[in-house]
Amino acid sequence: MGIKMNKYTFILLLLCALAAPQAHALNVFACEPEWGSLLHELAGDAIQVDVGTSALQDVHVIEAKPSLIAKVRRADLIVCTGAELEIGWLPQLIRQSGNSKVASGPGYFLASDQITTLEKPTKLDRSEGDIHPGGNPHFQMDPYRMLAIAKALDARLAELDPAKAATYKQRLDDFTTRWQTAIKGWEAKAAPLKGRKVVVHHWSWIYLLTWLNMEQIGALEPKPGVPPTSSHLASLVDLTKASNALAIISAAYQDPKPGQWLSERTGVPAVILPFTVGGDDRSKDLFGLYDSTIDKLLAVAK
Ligand SMILES: [Zn+2]
Repeated sequence: MGIKMNKYTFILLLLCALAAPQAHALNVFACEPEWGSLLHELAGDAIQVDVGTSALQDVHVIEAKPSLIAKVRRADLIVCTGAELEIGWLPQLIRQSGNSKVASGPGYFLASDQITTLEKPTKLDRSEGDIHPGGNPHFQMDPYRMLAIAKALDARLAELDPAKAATYKQRLDDFTTRWQTAIKGWEAKAAPLKGRKVVVHHWSWIYLLTWLNMEQIGALEPKPGVPPTSSHLASLVDLTKASNALAIISAAYQDPKPGQWLSERTGVPAVILPFTVGGDDRSKDLFGLYDSTIDKLLAVAK
């Protein structure tokens, strides 16, 4: 009986030892939903992900709430956009969490460090609005940059969690294949959008527009980050009409009224795009986000 007990104890200990790595799955904090979705593609259930914001929030201005600080405190890795998008809240979250693991080094991953950004200002003049010195941070709608970020993020996961490196590699390969196939489909489908002009709410669409060979002719915000004014909106009426614009584009989190106002006076449709995962019913993941965005633009191109 004594020997049997010892044997069971041994087996129990062995099982505990084997189960231990799973009990210590990486905790990852993602600043925005697109990174939460990308992490899911790359790691599935092998990691634990907290997403700090939703598609219905303006990520330029997030409040550093205690609930967010708690999430950063338990993180082994934070994955954020960077290019100063989160400058108003992320440094504060990290500082208040007291979690030095994610303050710098391998636990600190900024997507903007993995790619080149567009619209990098040559001079910094705050009178020009809320200029991002690191370039335009709204690159989640460029599928090629997303793929480059996916590769770098996958390498980071493997570095922090080498025991699961093979899983991450296999999932990256799988994602890459599906994503590249999807890109071909999106590009073929979006052909009718080529050369079309749009008015944007905020400077959020430069990567999408560059990818699809579209053109921004104006913005509802008089300067980046400055809310639309009635005099500025009025100044867009003639331009929007004269350029045969396809659409006036806002993101799901933005006030739709300025776009509707301009739409009523020009006959150009106001279109609300998801902007990130969760921004509409179809945008349940990155693939759905792109599907929905392109279909919503095509719907007004007909
Ligand atoms: Zn911005």
